[in-house]
Amino acid sequence: MSYDNMMSFLRVTEALAEVAGRTGWDQETMMPPGAAPQRAEEAAALKTVLHDRSTDPRLGAWLEEITPKTPVQAANLRILRHEYMRSCRLPADLVAEIARTTSLAHRAWAEARAAENLSVFLPHLTRVVALRREQGAALAEGGDPYDALLDGYEPGMSSARLSEIFDGMRPGIVDLRARVLDRPAPKALEGHFDPHAQRLLAEKIALVFGYDLERGRIDTALHPFSSGSGLDVRITTRVDPADPLNCLYSTIHEVGHACYEQGIDRDYLLTPLGHGASMGVHESQSRLYENQLGRSAGFAEALLPMMRDAFGDFGIDDPQTLYAAVNRVEEGFIRTEADELSYNLHVFLRFDLEQALIRGDLQVADLEAAWNDRFAADFGRDVPKPSLGVLQDVHWSEGLIGYFPTYSLGNIYAGSLFAALRRARPGLDAELAAGDLSGATEWLRSHVQRHGALFTPDVLIAEAAGEEVSSQPLLAYLEEKFGGLYGV
Ligand code: ZN
Repeated sequence: MSYDNMMSFLRVTEALAEVAGRTGWDQETMMPPGAAPQRAEEAAALKTVLHDRSTDPRLGAWLEEITPKTPVQAANLRILRHEYMRSCRLPADLVAEIARTTSLAHRAWAEARAAENLSVFLPHLTRVVALRREQGAALAEGGDPYDALLDGYEPGMSSARLSEIFDGMRPGIVDLRARVLDRPAPKALEGHFDPHAQRLLAEKIALVFGYDLERGRIDTALHPFSSGSGLDVRITTRVDPADPLNCLYSTIHEVGHACYEQGIDRDYLLTPLGHGASMGVHESQSRLYENQLGRSAGFAEALLPMMRDAFGDFGIDDPQTLYAAVNRVEEGFIRTEADELSYNLHVFLRFDLEQALIRGDLQVADLEAAWNDRFAADFGRDVPKPSLGVLQDVHWSEGLIGYFPTYSLGNIYAGSLFAALRRARPGLDAELAAGDLSGATEWLRSHVQRHGALFTPDVLIAEAAGEEVSSQPLLAYLEEKFGGLYGV
């Protein structure tokens, strides 16, 4: 009986959280600009209600008295105990102060970025880091504050384990990337690509990858994102007339996130299990859809005629050239535009710097210099301006510290899952070449997506991949793919 009462209470909380998420979506897509001050109050009101519910003493009593009778009940209780414990360790005034500070810091970050000058942002970031250190310490109760922050995004993961995995990957990636960059760059796409045609192609491809538009929609926003769960999972994309691959692969990436949410067992709707297992697992789906499937040699064969339908003759007329073009390795500065080889190096840089900030080994005043030194060491180039360096990502301004490593973890999970998928479907390349993604996405749905948060991330991935999580399958995939493409 207590269990049913608790689940009824949670269903309301989950529904309110979905509404809060949808106002966030609206803010990025449809909201008239003059509504901003009112929306801030609306969002704050919902946030207060949600925080009160997540620390409600009734919840504490239920969690103490209930003994789970099924694996689903046990999983719900596991998640709730974790979240309740975290919520209760945080004083309400600290939560409010972080919300206020990050809202101001976000604005200062945008201003500093536009002006190519950190000075207006530094006092804000100093405050954000101090508050997150305080939060980490409160959550950790004597343990490591950075690990406590990380645990909010990737439950059960530690920075020590991540460092071990990342440090193990790094030499292989640096070496392969150096060999690739020594070779001539493949042909790039050039010309003007009609924005409307790009949108139509993106929608067509979203359907090919299994996105259900009856329970979703695609809109345009400054930054691509996916939001919502269950029966209402929306994505956004962006259109650059000079670069149709931006819209195309942003869409496939967000479709990966959205298909994960849409693929969760309907019984878990509006319950704690009705979401992805972690940020890392979420990113494994989006990256696998985008890279291992979307940027495969097989899918290039299916993509070429679709692009010719959309844009006419665009200067590429064989699938191998298109495959090389969508996998160009470049000496860029920006993480979100990075190729598969460079991407993780960007993440390792942020992971190491943010740990140093939280542990007090690096002061915010020295952050820009530390970033630029590390970038020069890893990428062999000097950062010419802050928007191409320390100011490129929004995360730290929003207080998202501990989040970056889940991007690389997602790539590692994707590597393991893709190796298992290939073993399970020997005809995968031919399926992709025929533009038939159903076998691959169905495998992901049944092995990963449908479970929602039923299992912890490490158990879920190990079960699906048939082996313990390691970076080896990702490294082997990168070596095979880029070794082949660049003849190194
Ligand atoms: Zn993503």
